Amino acid sequence: MTQPDPSTVPIGRFAPSPTGPLHFGSLVAAVGSYLLARQGGGRWMLRMEDLDPPRVVPGAADEMLALLEQLGFAWDGEVIYQSHRYERYRQVIETLRQRGLLYDCSCTRKEILASAPHPGEEGPVYPGTCRNGPVGVRAQLAVRLKVPGRTVCFTDGVYGPLEQHLLSAVGDFALRRADGLFAYQLAVVVDDIDSGVNQVVRGADLLSSTPRQIYLYSCLGESPPHYYHLPLALGGDGEKMSKRHGRDVVIDAGNGPAAIWQALAFLGQQPPTDLASANGAELLAWGVGHFQVERIPLENRAMKID
Ligand code: GLU
Repeated sequence: MTQPDPSTVPIGRFAPSPTGPLHFGSLVAAVGSYLLARQGGGRWMLRMEDLDPPRVVPGAADEMLALLEQLGFAWDGEVIYQSHRYERYRQVIETLRQRGLLYDCSCTRKEILASAPHPGEEGPVYPGTCRNGPVGVRAQLAVRLKVPGRTVCFTDGVYGPLEQHLLSAVGDFALRRADGLFAYQLAVVVDDIDSGVNQVVRGADLLSSTPRQIYLYSCLGESPPHYYHLPLALGGDGEKMSKRHGRDVVIDAGNGPAAIWQALAFLGQQPPTDLASANGAELLAWGVGHFQVERIPLENRAMKID
């Protein structure tokens, strides 16, 4: 993948999952994606990744949108909801099936675990059991994308050159689960293509998904966006902040501006201390003028994806 062409206007987005209130980890992704898009004179869109109904908390999306607005984030266009796009995901699966790239799979998670040579970072590597047709009889089948035996290489704007051998690190991966839910990997790529997104800024926990997404772009005949993965904000116990439920990491209108200041500091941007009591819009305006990817702390960048 080439480096971003400075003459290309960025089209970025923030794509939170409304599974609870906004937390510091997702605020870092909101700040980073907003600043990079706006700094390049580009668009910044919002998408609610409410793909997994049992995990969605009623009201969380509306609360998040109200809070982002109060904190000075202004987005372009209508908010996109993945839950309104199932028909589109179904069409794309049909297209990929017609191209011979998919197969139905009857394996249960337990069977995959038992047959997997070694667990990958994303769970067990799928060994291709159903590539020539489902081996078991099940009323509901998952749909998998065949992956080639080659290495996917890309250059992340923060982490630099990375590569992953999809077949040995992940295996053929599901685009639709046996329970009928569409997979995140499919939805994120289809949505970003349909919205014209060319700049993806998000947490480094998604680095290991990026090669799968790049492969999906190629299956759909599209070029992937430029990726910038941001270091993860870890709690004191080393766990990703979003997974902790302490009140300290939940953002609200009161602590939000200070949290934006902290997000800028966490990203190595050295916001001036006299801005520590500024409001969200002022902090974001400072960030648009000063944000530099090169300042993201190197010690936070060490990362391996398989
Ligand atoms: N919905 C994902 C999350 O909240 C982000 C997906 C993405 O940015 O690609 O972690």
